[in-house]
Amino acid sequence: MTKEPIYLDNQATTPLAPEVFDAMVPWLRDNFGNPHSAHLLGRKAAAAVEVARDQVASLLPENGKLFFAGSATEAINLGFGAVHALKAAGRNKIIVLDSEHAAVRDTAQSYKEHGFMVERHPIGPDGIVSLEQLGRMIDDKTALVAAMLVNNEIGVIQPVEAIANLAHEHGALMLCDVVQGYGRVAIPDNIDMAAISAHKIYGPKGIGALWVREGIDLPPMIQGGGQEKGIRSGTLSPALCNGFGRAAALCAERHDVDAAHIQTLADKARTCFADWTINGAMDQRYLGNLNIRRDGVDVARLMSDVRGVAFSAGSACASGSGRPSHVLAALGLEPAQIKSSIRLGFGRYNSLEDIEMASKIINEAVEAQRI
Ligand code: PLP
Repeated sequence: MTKEPIYLDNQATTPLAPEVFDAMVPWLRDNFGNPHSAHLLGRKAAAAVEVARDQVASLLPENGKLFFAGSATEAINLGFGAVHALKAAGRNKIIVLDSEHAAVRDTAQSYKEHGFMVERHPIGPDGIVSLEQLGRMIDDKTALVAAMLVNNEIGVIQPVEAIANLAHEHGALMLCDVVQGYGRVAIPDNIDMAAISAHKIYGPKGIGALWVREGIDLPPMIQGGGQEKGIRSGTLSPALCNGFGRAAALCAERHDVDAAHIQTLADKARTCFADWTINGAMDQRYLGNLNIRRDGVDVARLMSDVRGVAFSAGSACASGSGRPSHVLAALGLEPAQIKSSIRLGFGRYNSLEDIEMASKIINEAVEAQRI
């Protein structure tokens, strides 16, 4: 039997928590009711969906509504719809950070077709936005500012609370992609919308959600039976909702234990990869993400040589699409430095031995390139 590789790609996706699997099984096997049916089976499923909704929402600010969606990408697309009402009030500008995930960048770009100006705000060499510069870009024509909490490629944490304050000073909305921080990094109360994804928190793939502050108008994204208050029609999956809810509850229950574990793994990794340079801020970062580079390393070759470790060359999304990492480029790194960068992502189910073994395998493969 082939041995499974050591999994160090927890930003791309996370393994399903056993507790989440257990929570989902009855909704796949026994309780098949449609949560939108009026009879007992349907009402039972609907009640479970609402419990899950509360579990997921409890890690987000108060005074909002949570809409389930098929992924965070879908949730982000849903959230952008809020700009339509603002355009009617004369606001036609959307600002996104240069380091946003494609789900935000490409969605923003698509709004050019709706008559919006789309501006990308640069990030500094540490990956963090300058609030002073951003403050100069936001004006009374701005409808929406989108900025992520934790970057998926380099792990840096943006000053989201201050960004939301700047947006609000000019009457704009603030959409935050909290996918990589939800359940792990504090989410400020003053954001207007937040997009999340279950498969990044040891939950199932195929479900995400958009949290929206009360009073914000969203146009329906999918027409049909009127589910999710008419915003996103389509039958919800009680199994996926329950899995998401259980995964969120576990993040809350295990918050301190998980954080201490990630700290231990990150400390170990920094020692094991001491010859490498960290991309992005050293301190303002989520410790489960280590994006590092080493001069002269051919990462394409490294990835084909190293079969025993699952890791990423830059973002999984970027490498999946064959596009070079726009985030590492936005840091001001040279093409050669980008090509010698790898991303290691640690999670709840990694052990210290994983880090020791993976670093040995990777560093030996790097040494072999030098011979
Ligand atoms: N935003 C960030 C920061 C991500 O890391 C990802 C996934 O890689 C997404 C959005 C998209 O999430 P989903 O896979 O649920 O569409």
